[in-house]
Amino acid sequence: MQKVEHIGIAVKDLTNSIPLFEKLLNSTCYKTESVESEQVSTAFFRSGSTKIELLESTDPDGVIAKFVNKKGEGIHHIAFEVDDIEQEMERLRNEGFVLLNETPKPGADNKLVCFLHPKTTNGVLIELCMERK
Ligand code: ZN
Repeated sequence: MQKVEHIGIAVKDLTNSIPLFEKLLNSTCYKTESVESEQVSTAFFRSGSTKIELLESTDPDGVIAKFVNKKGEGIHHIAFEVDDIEQEMERLRNEGFVLLNETPKPGADNKLVCFLHPKTTNGVLIELCMERK
């Protein structure tokens, strides 16, 4: 795995959280993007070579809405950049980690992504992400 590509933070409302994170990071939100398949709206910020991804649910029954209802706003996942997502998924599967996706799926920010089940990663939702070519 390569660097931490981004940290995903679940929020209730991007309208409030975008200006908050702009102030916090002293960095302008450079992209907002909806991912229909995940029922989320996302907003991205740069912080050095890493990014912050804010996630707001677009559906009251979506995974982010459920997360916020259960745990409140906060860190949702840590995403690591990988060079070859299929190969990394295979390696992790062989190491006994449970993958939440059988095949890489399209994510925000022009990425192919795969999530690891938190029950096999000490409660931390891990995302693998690879730039789509
Ligand atoms: Zn992410």
